[in-house]
Amino acid sequence: MKQVDAAVIGFGKGGKTLAGALASAGKTVVLVEQSPKMYGGTCINVACIPTKSLVSSAALSAAQGGAFAERAARYAAAVDEKDRLTGMLRDKNYRKLADLPNVQVMDGTASFADATHLTVRTPDGGKETVEAAQVFVNTGARPFVPPIPGADGPRVFVSETLLDVRELPERLVIIGGGYIGMEFASMYANFGSQVVVVQNEDAFLPREDAEIAAAVLASLEERGVRVMLGADVRSIEDDAERAVVVVETSGSEKLLPADAVLVATGRRPNVAELNLEAAGVELTERGAVRTDEHLRTTAPNVWALGDVAGGLQFTYISLDDSRIVKSAVLGDGARTTENRGAVPYSVFLDPPFSRVGMTEQEARDAGFNVKAAKLPAAAVPKAQLLQKPTGLLKAVVDADTDHILGAHLFCEESHEMVNTVKLAMDAGLPYQTLRDAVYTHPTMSEAFNDLFATVA
Ligand SMILES: Cc1cc2nc3c(=O)[nH]c(=O)nc-3n(C[C@H](O)[C@H](O)[C@H](O)COP(=O)(O)OP(=O)(O)OC[C@H]3O[C@@H](n4cnc5c(N)ncnc54)[C@H](O)[C@@H]3O)c2cc1C
Repeated sequence: MKQVDAAVIGFGKGGKTLAGALASAGKTVVLVEQSPKMYGGTCINVACIPTKSLVSSAALSAAQGGAFAERAARYAAAVDEKDRLTGMLRDKNYRKLADLPNVQVMDGTASFADATHLTVRTPDGGKETVEAAQVFVNTGARPFVPPIPGADGPRVFVSETLLDVRELPERLVIIGGGYIGMEFASMYANFGSQVVVVQNEDAFLPREDAEIAAAVLASLEERGVRVMLGADVRSIEDDAERAVVVVETSGSEKLLPADAVLVATGRRPNVAELNLEAAGVELTERGAVRTDEHLRTTAPNVWALGDVAGGLQFTYISLDDSRIVKSAVLGDGARTTENRGAVPYSVFLDPPFSRVGMTEQEARDAGFNVKAAKLPAAAVPKAQLLQKPTGLLKAVVDADTDHILGAHLFCEESHEMVNTVKLAMDAGLPYQTLRDAVYTHPTMSEAFNDLFATVA
């Protein structure tokens, strides 16, 4: 039996960062990871980094144009480059922890025997016990595939598995119109696939500002993506040649032939193998590990970080979770989920869409006296010189305090810009600070001069 101060289950962003911090504080640490292909976690291996590598290659490929065969060759090269990049990062992540004298990276699948004992099923079929005074659960989430007949077919993928396919699908059907589905739609359209998105909800991006959602939809459609709203997938058939997605929409049946089908219908916390009951760790109604604002679970010596804790599913949230847990176990506990400030996010479309804070409607519903600002991306010189004039920028301001309540940026480089707005919001700056600031030129950030000048 191994005895350590701390056990981390899962090599995700929060877990690996915390393991390093605990080791620096002199603790002995075991980090258990079920797959050597996942050292470093979901982000670097099968999510953020590989997708953004491909998004970037896809934009270059779209600019180069050419026949499908040429595009398909560039796609295969992009997958190879993505594999090189993730392999390099995986190795770097492993070494960063494994080279520390008081950290042991252990291959295996962990489950609780009780609150301080883990059973680790090792790859050779054996079992090892780890005794740890503190346990940190960082097991992430996995794709949720609804029970659609034929969803186990040979041409049906989830985001993680599609990323490994080196053959560019000529026709790609994406089931699910959420952020991951949209990112893949945009990316594969740029690579040269014919993309159809099937979404059961009637509204496109229903949680976003309606004008921005309409601008995103128009831009995807302009690039050849077909979006079917209010459409239910009944089944996925497969013959030797192709898959056929059977869809019901407005009372009639449509058949969508596809070389690949991507199921992008959400991700669920990875808890099934943890035997959490044995440790007294409870789940929420949505199946995530229940935690308080310090990310402590219902067992006093167990914490949960990242996607498994049921918060927003982003790498930087998992990273921030590690700061919160570090504050709880090594510090004064001052940092909590309640004080991490406004949380921005980006969807890496072409151009990207980024958001922080409330929509105009949400602000009105919350009782604010609202002023709004709006600017077409085409009005920004940098957007013109990049030949990327598509898009729309909006901001929402509290008329009583001049504080920024939200920003919705569908434009080139919005993923960089949104962080400036987040900072202004966290600092409680009035919108005039961004309106009157001196920015370098030509940049997308200088759009804030003109955007916030339209507050009315
Ligand atoms: C396609 C896609 C694109 C994304 N793009 C972005 C993006 O651009 N930006 C962004 O911020 N976020 C993005 N995300 C979300 C982001 O990837 C996740 O929020 C983040 O990786 C979650 O990290 P984590 O720390 O919760 O754990 P993870 O990184 O998921 O790590 C969990 C680890 O635990 C291991 N594990 C699970 N169970 C056990 C067990 N019982 N025993 C041992 N090991 C176990 C798993 O193998 C895994 O390695 C994307 C997600 C997807 C799917």
